[in-house]
Amino acid sequence: MADFDETFDWVVVGCGGGSMSSALLMRKAGKSVVILEKTKYAGGTTSKSGGVIWLPNNPFMDPGEDSTEKGITYLDAVIGDDPTAPGTSHEKRLAYIVEGRKMIEFLVREGVQLLRGSKFWPDYYDEYPGGCKTSRTVVARPFNKAELGDWEPKLRQGFLEVPALLDEGMQLPFMGGLDKLKFYVRVGSAMAWAKLTGKRWVTAGAALQGRMLKASLGAGADIRLETPVSELVIENGKATGVVTTKDGKPWRIGARLGILINAGGFAHNQEMRDKYMPGTRSEWSMTAEGDTGEMHRELERIGGTLAQMDEMVGFQMTRAPGWETDYVAPGAQAVTAKPHAILVDQTGVRYLNEGGSYEEYCERMVKRNREVPAIPSWAILDQQYIDLYPLANGGQGKVPAKWLETGYIKKADTIEELARQINVDPATLRATVDRWNGFVDNGRDEDFHRGDRKYDQFLGDPRLNEQFRTLGRIDKAPFYSVDVIPGDVSTYGGVITDVNSRVLKGDGTPFEGLYACGVTTASPMGRVYPGAGASVGPSMTFGWIAAKHAAGLANQAL
Ligand SMILES: Cc1cc2nc3c(=O)[nH]c(=O)nc-3n(C[C@H](O)[C@H](O)[C@H](O)COP(=O)(O)OP(=O)(O)OC[C@H]3O[C@@H](n4cnc5c(N)ncnc54)[C@H](O)[C@@H]3O)c2cc1C
Repeated sequence: MADFDETFDWVVVGCGGGSMSSALLMRKAGKSVVILEKTKYAGGTTSKSGGVIWLPNNPFMDPGEDSTEKGITYLDAVIGDDPTAPGTSHEKRLAYIVEGRKMIEFLVREGVQLLRGSKFWPDYYDEYPGGCKTSRTVVARPFNKAELGDWEPKLRQGFLEVPALLDEGMQLPFMGGLDKLKFYVRVGSAMAWAKLTGKRWVTAGAALQGRMLKASLGAGADIRLETPVSELVIENGKATGVVTTKDGKPWRIGARLGILINAGGFAHNQEMRDKYMPGTRSEWSMTAEGDTGEMHRELERIGGTLAQMDEMVGFQMTRAPGWETDYVAPGAQAVTAKPHAILVDQTGVRYLNEGGSYEEYCERMVKRNREVPAIPSWAILDQQYIDLYPLANGGQGKVPAKWLETGYIKKADTIEELARQINVDPATLRATVDRWNGFVDNGRDEDFHRGDRKYDQFLGDPRLNEQFRTLGRIDKAPFYSVDVIPGDVSTYGGVITDVNSRVLKGDGTPFEGLYACGVTTASPMGRVYPGAGASVGPSMTFGWIAAKHAAGLANQAL
């Protein structure tokens, strides 16, 4: 038996989504818990995220709006039996829906204030059986991080620090004048009041992780920052502890009930990206800096099997001046899905539905690039777009001079001239734009069916008739182009786990006492991103399932 410097019932590696849902359950069961986080901040990429949890039949939906049956029908239909995705199975998907609901109810009882994310945020493949055309999203209420006291500066920064919901921010460009005014007055006065009263509001992922942190600390979890784990201790097939450092020396921590690895992905490890997802770049990732994959390697070293390693939660980006240092670089998802915009590869040809899931969009870019140059691809817009919609966190109504000076945005009086500026054959781009305009005139994208599904429409302009929310002619000069690259908000592959979140050995049997969740694992959603929040939701749920199993509470109502 290895000698340990100290021992806890539950040892968690990484302070991400599942770490604290598992910790809360363990503390509820009276077990000791330590969370070891290598960076200076608690919360992981989850804290930096939108904080959206996608969960079918979640407790915030209206009665009769959804059911376990609808949820599993949808997941089985979109994910299916894919032999190249051993991280998923019908059993795991069902456990996600059933246990996810219980987890949310448990968190609410523990004082974590959650609510419905939006009334309208359709599933990303809502046209499939069981698909939801309303919204299966759950988020945290905005959180006053001053409630964390000494821990306030240790919560990883979120990307929205306002007392408003992410959903409201997304609706803002389309609110009518009066609604917009009401919104600004409400948020403005809440911020002014916060200044006077010492409140510091965060929303989205930081609100979720801030609330989880407050609850976990309050429940007595020991959370240690700047404490990287380098090694897992395995004795006779059983995980018994981890090796970290204390005062610059190795420090061995034993685990009586189990170890949960919630150490995120490998988005900032270029060597691993080159091996598993060539053509993508770590500097295009919006994940937190701790996403460097060493636990993937450690899990592989001890005999775990990595799978779905070529998958990432892509998120298309455009490199507006300053993007390298932006906390979250400008997304391009809502750009090319808006009317009066399309995406073309470097030969001037459209190759995808510009609506739809960001994960699939970027996957298509990477695949296309193997056939013809498509990284970067080009968004093609006209003046109607600029007049109506924002571009790269700005640009609505007027193109910033800096964008033109730096050459980020190309501008031309004709499509042919624009084509020359982006080194595309003018006749090909002209033909692509003419074909698109023909589809718009007929009200249907015959090539890629953009706009057919509710989710495409959600990305378009809600002020327009459903059929045309994402369709609009590109015919009003001047014309514009900006680059679009396959950025990401996460990797999505990792170690294979079972329905109880136990890490599996190469022979398919579980390691005793070793669990994993979140993007350290091969996603239980397989190679598909079924809806908004399909990463944070599974991390929190499978972390909770792991704790339930390790504490011997798997079959108990909580
Ligand atoms: C801008 C943005 C918006 C997003 N919006 C959403 C959204 O709304 N919904 C959604 O589902 N997904 C969203 N995502 C993706 C999502 O945030 C991530 O996929 C998810 O948070 C990963 O969660 P996790 O629990 O697996 O890991 P993380 O939350 O990243 O936590 C892992 C932690 O482990 C630590 N760690 C790593 N190695 C070690 C080690 N060796 N020892 C100790 N600690 C270690 C890391 O530092 C990190 O703190 C978004 C991402 C971004 C960037």
